[in-house]
Amino acid sequence: MQPPASLWWSSLELPVAPRAALGRHLDVDVAIIGGGFTGLWTARELKRRDPSLRIVVLEKEVCGFGASGRNGGWASAFYPLGDEAIISRHGRAAFDRLRRQLQQGVRTLGQSLAGDGIDADFVQGGTLDFARSELQARRLQQRVRDARELGYALEDLVWLEEREARERGRVAGALGATYSPHCARLHPARLVRGLAEVNERLGVEIYENSRVTRVMGSKGTSAAEVATAGGSVHARFVVRATEGFTPTLAGERRRVAPLFSLMIASEPQSRGFWDEAGFGHYETFADDRHLIIYGQRTRDDRIAFGGRGAPYHFGSTVEPRFDENPKVFSLLEATLRELLPHLEGGVAYRWGGPLAMARDQSPSVLVDYERGLASAGGYTGDGVVMSYVAANALADLLTAPDVTTDYTSLPFVQHRSRPWEYEPFRWLGINAALGAASWADRVEARNQRESRAGRWVERLLT
Ligand SMILES: Cc1cc2nc3c(=O)[nH]c(=O)nc-3n(C[C@H](O)[C@H](O)[C@H](O)COP(=O)(O)OP(=O)(O)OC[C@H]3O[C@@H](n4cnc5c(N)ncnc54)[C@H](O)[C@@H]3O)c2cc1C
Repeated sequence: MQPPASLWWSSLELPVAPRAALGRHLDVDVAIIGGGFTGLWTARELKRRDPSLRIVVLEKEVCGFGASGRNGGWASAFYPLGDEAIISRHGRAAFDRLRRQLQQGVRTLGQSLAGDGIDADFVQGGTLDFARSELQARRLQQRVRDARELGYALEDLVWLEEREARERGRVAGALGATYSPHCARLHPARLVRGLAEVNERLGVEIYENSRVTRVMGSKGTSAAEVATAGGSVHARFVVRATEGFTPTLAGERRRVAPLFSLMIASEPQSRGFWDEAGFGHYETFADDRHLIIYGQRTRDDRIAFGGRGAPYHFGSTVEPRFDENPKVFSLLEATLRELLPHLEGGVAYRWGGPLAMARDQSPSVLVDYERGLASAGGYTGDGVVMSYVAANALADLLTAPDVTTDYTSLPFVQHRSRPWEYEPFRWLGINAALGAASWADRVEARNQRESRAGRWVERLLT
């Protein structure tokens, strides 16, 4: 199955022809389930550390079918948890290490792409978060002050007054913006398809249309094992890299909650539009509403724009029809036109996909050496750089288990989030939080004061 028709898949240079499915038994060092960023970066980073490893990637559709081929293309240093929450859970030193590693991760991801010759439109132009009300301006200014107290360097996050913000990007009604240099925009499908090709050149075997139906940890002298309809693999380590699809695997229903993020893309905009709108350095952009939105100027001068708002589906089900939601698509278009009223033409593409949220909102990288089982994921909407950093941690853990590295000492490594509640509590809690976020935005827009619903959102989910 191909992913939904998106701007990203339609602008790939070559049509995607599926690779062969697994049709026999293999004995390998590492078997990876899932051909998205996590699976493919893990294979790439394992090969960097030990080129002799025999690695197989098993993908149920085609590489990039999941969120990795469909996302907003923000390669940012963002983390699903707020700074204060990270510090209270893991302490100040761990927070500092994480912040440094994520900021550095944006740059090293770009360098890695350049080194491998992957042209994924990577441009590190930073990110702008616009304040479109006095309330948002106060909140963002406070965030900059808090960042200073937490040891962020001056250039890591700055407040731009209205005039300075307009020099970078002109969004209707903006009173100012924060700017951080730690974000690049990229073309996610070019990245994930390019990564698959690089891995193949390095000798990684990739099988597509190969859904893993069974995973078994090693016992005594028998290796860990995975099975597909057409074959099986014995491996020293099996890595699960299935993110939003994880609940569809046996025994993993409550591991993460699949949430759906939806996107639209405009027609290419004229030179005149961009002269007016700015974003000359391909800064990614959002505003400070509770219900997350995200935009980027693409290489062909369109706007790719997305946001949350789609409901969570009972029982953590993941179905292709959830990738579309006419109400959310119209809301996205209306929001984009509100931000950039001179937008030319209609919406050219609409699509969406599942991401994964852990119960405590923390990503995790886990290795069970005894059973030969490993996994990485739970990045919520921040998986582009996080998957790269997580893959580096996994590669270190699998190739040098006794050595502590900059990656393996990060707080999400060997962190196990508690499982989600049983239904119907999971459905009630998550949809209440999503509802509270848009309610809070409406109340704040009307009353210009902080909404209590906004604070409930955090409490419901942590
Ligand atoms: C619309 C959208 C916008 C987003 N925007 C951003 C953004 O701008 N910035 C950001 O940082 N993050 C963003 N994210 C999140 C980010 O895309 C993900 O966190 C990241 O791509 C996860 O990569 P992954 O490889 O772990 O998972 P995925 O890319 O989902 O890959 C998992 C793969 O596993 C395969 N699979 C599942 N089950 C099986 C099985 N049983 N057997 C074999 N294969 C299986 C799937 O087919 C899939 O290809 C966005 C997500 C979405 C949906």
